[in-house]
Amino acid sequence: MVVAKDSYSPDSNGIILSPITNSIINLDQGDPVVFEPYWKKRSDEYATVIKGNDLMSYMSNPSDVCWFMLPETKDAIKRIHSVVGNAEIEDKHIVVGTGSSQLFLAALFALCPSDSPQPINVVAQAPYYSEYQDQIRFLSSRLFQWDGDAALYDKNEPYIELVCSPNNPDGVIQEPVVKSEAKGKLIHDLAYYWPQYTPITHKADHDIMLFTFSKSTGHAGSRIGWALVKDVEVATKMTRFLQLSSIGVAKDSQTRFVKIIGALCDSYNNFGSAESELFFQYGKRRMRERWEKLRAAIEQSKIFTAANYPKAFCNFTNESSETYPGFAWLKGEEGIEDAKSYLRKLNILVREGNRFGAGQNHVRVTMLGPDDVFNELLARLSNAKRDVV
Ligand code: PMP
Repeated sequence: MVVAKDSYSPDSNGIILSPITNSIINLDQGDPVVFEPYWKKRSDEYATVIKGNDLMSYMSNPSDVCWFMLPETKDAIKRIHSVVGNAEIEDKHIVVGTGSSQLFLAALFALCPSDSPQPINVVAQAPYYSEYQDQIRFLSSRLFQWDGDAALYDKNEPYIELVCSPNNPDGVIQEPVVKSEAKGKLIHDLAYYWPQYTPITHKADHDIMLFTFSKSTGHAGSRIGWALVKDVEVATKMTRFLQLSSIGVAKDSQTRFVKIIGALCDSYNNFGSAESELFFQYGKRRMRERWEKLRAAIEQSKIFTAANYPKAFCNFTNESSETYPGFAWLKGEEGIEDAKSYLRKLNILVREGNRFGAGQNHVRVTMLGPDDVFNELLARLSNAKRDVV
């Protein structure tokens, strides 16, 4: 781990660098450890105990579409959505997955007819979450194929459009954009539609909506995701995919999910809880502080810019507020054509624009990492000079 320092001195080129400038800091991945201090403070309250003879069967509930989902998991999912008000759950089938990454593939599998003469085109508006393209290309399925930017799709062939909202990497609230006359289906990835990142303006209500424990509370290591699905046949096919790929989802992880989500919902239902002690309020405060510091740092060096987000009223927190995305989508100012290489010279690792279908003058920087790495990023960005190029 690196440690931020307060004082900096110019190097032989006159460039002001931090004393630990030779250590590489990695802001490429979106590992959500920013919320760890909250859970650390309450580690016993949210602890899960699993006995030696617990949870041994594959089976959870044979009468549910998703037969490996614990009934308690289903209740926890319904409860968190009714507490937060971010998704309509009434008419939905729920499928639990090993992270929403697995459910993404399950949804593609479920939406593609097995007798299609050619693979179905899958598109997402650029800049799109880089893993969509990577996962699809890696699989080389004969059912579906990656076809790039949804805004450019004009083929008269069936397609699936991925709508990520708020969007990874740029935090923008997204709507479907394909204009083609052809038959299209939608998958909504709502991984970041939680109050710490964005105002909750409505209950999302789409055919397939993906959510994840990783970004809702930060428990990425438990690998739990869930899908809210309108059509029972789609939910059944998704379950079939999960059965064939992993015979369900670890009940140990489901149990931890149930414990954490249950206690989190209790804290909102308990009128004695101080607002500052509540998770989403804490998370939003953390994200806001980070965003304010990042904006100050890039303003100081004038090498990068980040978009501003419109304010909206959040039905959950009952206040008007900005969006504080999980990633900063930075644009290099004039002369910074290759933003990743520029930052690489400052020993900062980020993900480059073309992985998201955008230009190389853009990079994605995580806002979710550990404090020491984030603070070091701020120090390096605010001291950065154009002549590093
Ligand atoms: N969708 C988006 C937009 C994400 O950013 C991520 C995680 N980076 C995922 C899905 C996958 O999350 P999980 O950990 O649940 O597989």
